[in-house]
Amino acid sequence: MTKYCNLILVFLLLSTGHAAVAQQSEATQKLLKRNEMFEPAIIEVAENVYTAIGYQVSANTMIVGDDGVIIIDPGQQVAAARRVRAEFERISDLPVRAIVYTHGHADHSNGASAFYDPEAGIEVWARSNYWSEPNRVEAAGLTGGVRPSNTQGFDLRPEQKIGVGVAIPPQRPPAGSNQVDGVGSQAKPVRIDPTHMFSEERITLDIAGISLELVAAPGETADQLYAWLPKQRVVFPGDNFYQSWPNVYPLRGTARRSIRDWISSLDSMVQKDPLHVVGGHTTPILGTANEVLTNYRDAMQWVHDRTIEGAKLYMTPDELVEYAALPAHLAELDYLAEYYGSIWGTVRDIYAQDLGWFDGDPLNLHRESPLRQSERMAELVGGVDILWTKAQEAMTAEDPLGAAQLAQHVIRLRPNNPEPKLLMADALDIIGERTFNAPARNYTLSSANRFRAQGAD
Ligand SMILES: [Zn+2]
Repeated sequence: MTKYCNLILVFLLLSTGHAAVAQQSEATQKLLKRNEMFEPAIIEVAENVYTAIGYQVSANTMIVGDDGVIIIDPGQQVAAARRVRAEFERISDLPVRAIVYTHGHADHSNGASAFYDPEAGIEVWARSNYWSEPNRVEAAGLTGGVRPSNTQGFDLRPEQKIGVGVAIPPQRPPAGSNQVDGVGSQAKPVRIDPTHMFSEERITLDIAGISLELVAAPGETADQLYAWLPKQRVVFPGDNFYQSWPNVYPLRGTARRSIRDWISSLDSMVQKDPLHVVGGHTTPILGTANEVLTNYRDAMQWVHDRTIEGAKLYMTPDELVEYAALPAHLAELDYLAEYYGSIWGTVRDIYAQDLGWFDGDPLNLHRESPLRQSERMAELVGGVDILWTKAQEAMTAEDPLGAAQLAQHVIRLRPNNPEPKLLMADALDIIGERTFNAPARNYTLSSANRFRAQGAD
């Protein structure tokens, strides 16, 4: 720990008297509290419907029929999926008749071989455009970039790892595979491809006496579906719902996601009048599914509409983030809190998809290089030394974001000087620790580690 962290810690110790509390921001405490949701458990959602939470990154469900079971989303890793299977078999030892993939993301499908027997005639269902997002990432040549591992927290020190806000902290995938949510498509060693795919809007399966409707539901990915169990009124939205603001813009960077399709898909689920909802991650919500999905849909619609409305008034994406803030009755709902997706990311992404990179500010048509901007800043304050002093003062004044912004100029102007990089690392550590949105937190802390390594060179 460097001198700045120590100063802040001493300050907090004096003001609170509790070391344990002083070292953890509200954001950290809230994320740790959220993780209590992921204690491994098998939850009885409805008659004959059981969902495993906390064994894997994603939620895995078994529906028990007359002479067999259907598995929805077998999960991420074969060993963990085997544990889930063992738990399910304590409830029912009937054979697996079918597996349904809600979408082509490795964290929902790569565990399939734990449930699959190639000789048993098991039907594996998905939509005909299954695996659309990893294919898109691969086609763009973006497979294997560092942003996915930075945002998932794979590159953090153990004590920095809290998770991703909607799941237990994911495991770094084994070399040569890519088992992170939606990243890459090289996970072939454990992939079980669908045996049955449908290109229609909807299809009804009748397997083991279970009537299960699969409905095309583009949103989080283009290949998403939701499953609907009419008898028990349970909906399985895949990753079009979990208890967090939706990940409309994934910070890791991936195929663009259509918020309009996503809203329509949620509306389609609401029309079913569901009682229970089993999201792709986080615990099922029992009894109030219709109200919850309605609020989820309405919140996304609100942010979409405000963004478009403000964009027509010359508002820039940064201004729109404030303009599109949720009304109080939605903002207070924990399942819309920014554990994973963010409203600020959603607003900027809607703008970027519809209007592109140009934010409407004429000065951004005439931008100077970052180095020239930093030179101007130094000239303005009276030299680089003063800029550096101001950065240090901001840090001791408990303004790490101000310090980081000033240090960035000094780093550009004195690229061989390690001190500003170390100050940047200290500032980002504090900023990250106070960040509630898990991917943004993980990326910020990963960046702190990167600056510290550069400063130590
Ligand atoms: Zn997922």
